[in-house]
Amino acid sequence: ALVQERAMEMTAFNPEIVTQTEENISILGELQTAIKTKQLCLYYQPQIDLRTGDIRSVEALLRWQHPKRGLLTPGAFIARAEQSTLIQTITEFALREAIEQHKQWKIQGVEIPVSVNISTRNLLHPNFTDRVIALLEEYQIDGRWIELEVTESAIVVDMEQAIDELVRLAKANFSISIDDFGTGYSSLQYLHRLPASLIKIDQSFIKRLPNDKGAVYIVDAAVTLAQKMGIKTIAEGVETQEVYDYLKQTDCDMAQGYFISKPIPQDRFSRWFLNQDGVYAHLA
Ligand code: C2E
Ligand code: MG
Ligand code: MG
Ligand code: MG
Repeated sequence: ALVQERAMEMTAFNPEIVTQTEENISILGELQTAIKTKQLCLYYQPQIDLRTGDIRSVEALLRWQHPKRGLLTPGAFIARAEQSTLIQTITEFALREAIEQHKQWKIQGVEIPVSVNISTRNLLHPNFTDRVIALLEEYQIDGRWIELEVTESAIVVDMEQAIDELVRLAKANFSISIDDFGTGYSSLQYLHRLPASLIKIDQSFIKRLPNDKGAVYIVDAAVTLAQKMGIKTIAEGVETQEVYDYLKQTDCDMAQGYFISKPIPQDRFSRWFLNQDGVYAHLA
């Protein structure tokens, strides 16, 4: 009723906002159903060692198998979820699913870190850190197997709290990765205070390699800076042989992208992964 009241208040001023609000309400309702009826799942994308072609870790990427609209990527619904408390439920789902998958692979003989994406709203939620740390106890797993990916833009919303929470998570042994690096505002200002072990260089730079000098300088600077701080680097969005070959002769540690593998559904990824020993031999 409150929502309806608000919507009516707004009608007088801006009919467009009302449409947006209604759309929001329906997608949030659908998402709630989606969570309950298990329409959400994770796809997995390998992150490989540029020197050997070995899979070093696997990123879990959320997908929504929508009954009418087909397979949806996070771009279609995460921003909406972030405007409500549903983002807490969704991230907890992704974390539990990723941890269970890690344990399953371990039983089958492959122990590998799995990374999960965390939203700004998660990081700034009062109970988030405690709840995430409690999962380690519940699942009897060491935090170093779970990498938490946080974007630069998530950190700058409230830098002091974000740093506090990340420090607590790192102390509980979670690995922290800085996602979409280079797209935030004040990376150099806070980077040395973050307990990060990996920097993920944003695809917008990687895609422009090797001919765009600006991109070359930025990637080079990010890798050098990270190295000096003892942080590893991964190039996101590696789509071509040309970019892959270029990166191989830099000091960048890892690569991720369609050239290596698209994100693939859990069952298909597991089947391939367990049989291949997690090595992309042709890339070594
Ligand atoms: P991200 O964490 O930066 O993930 C990388 C995105 O780039 C993924 O998009 C991936 O499918 C895509 N990608 C990977 N390689 C390539 C490539 O070579 N070329 C191109 N063009 N794209 C590539 P996706 O899966 O649509 O996810 C988009 C964003 O949604 C993610 O960006 C992440 O910020 C967010 N996200 C994904 N899963 C979750 C989740 O479980 N929770 C939250 N809060 N956010 C999530
Ligand atoms: Mg990510
Ligand atoms: Mg990214
Ligand atoms: Mg991104």
